[in-house]
Amino acid sequence: MELLKQRILKDGQVIGNDILKVDSFLNHQMDVQLFNEMGKEFYRLFAHKKVTKILTIESSGIGIACIAAQYFNVPVVFAKKTEARNLDADTYLAEVYSFTKGKTYNVRVSKKYINSRDVVLIIDDFLANGKAALGLADIAEQAGAEVAGIGIAIEKGFQNGGRLLRERGLEVQSLAIVEGMQDGVITFR
Ligand code: 5GP
Repeated sequence: MELLKQRILKDGQVIGNDILKVDSFLNHQMDVQLFNEMGKEFYRLFAHKKVTKILTIESSGIGIACIAAQYFNVPVVFAKKTEARNLDADTYLAEVYSFTKGKTYNVRVSKKYINSRDVVLIIDDFLANGKAALGLADIAEQAGAEVAGIGIAIEKGFQNGGRLLRERGLEVQSLAIVEGMQDGVITFR
């Protein structure tokens, strides 16, 4: 998606060799107009799949998922990273290793909100090694739901998540695929 690529080039910052910081429009301050264009594009890509629910993970996926959901006209469910007393006891659980935080944590979704009649579209902000998306696909599978596909804003094509997910037969659609970030220079696939 050209608009997103241009924005990454204009405002993205490369941290080290493998982290792309897009705090000014996606991960901290959020450009809702851009999200709206992204939502429209996800709808164009997945409209034929008869999606009944969008599944994401807190926190950065939520904003993108909610805007996209307005096009699909379906609810958004987000996997929670912390156990809390106000979360139902009966949950689907998946283990996710966080690439940016360097630790493993459990993510949970109440069994009330995904079931075997659902066709689930997974949406997230970034795809790196694919652990977050795999965790979400695992939760959908536990519920007996169908995974319609995975919609990603920014895929880092030099990490192996995209390959892993596609090899599993999952349809991954990324709005921008970053091929390299050598010496702070961002290139796209
Ligand atoms: P994965 O599970 O695919 O290894 O990593 C995806 C998750 O890690 C995303 O939900 C995102 O929050 C975070 N992440 C991975 N790489 C980056 C990055 O380069 N920049 C930012 N802002 N987040 C990232």
